[in-house]
Amino acid sequence: MRMIEGKVIKCRKPHRCIWCGEKIEPGETAAYRRYISDGEFVQDYWHMECYIAMMRSEDTMDEGFDAFEQKRGKILEETQRDTN
Ligand SMILES: [Zn+2]
Repeated sequence: MRMIEGKVIKCRKPHRCIWCGEKIEPGETAAYRRYISDGEFVQDYWHMECYIAMMRSEDTMDEGFDAFEQKRGKILEETQRDTN
């Protein structure tokens, strides 16, 4: 994965959070990333608390998480512990 751009934005349109799958409403602050993965351009949107949760998680290097399947604002290990 090669990062092109990462920034904090204010949404003008609704988006779906790549972490928790919940909607990010217009006017909400979100984290936005644009990158290349396997030769393809990818972009994703995050609730701020979800982005922070991803940064705090240990197993997310190289997209090591299931998109849209995490709990909002919870780190990967916490969610895994809950479901196991
Ligand atoms: Zn989220």
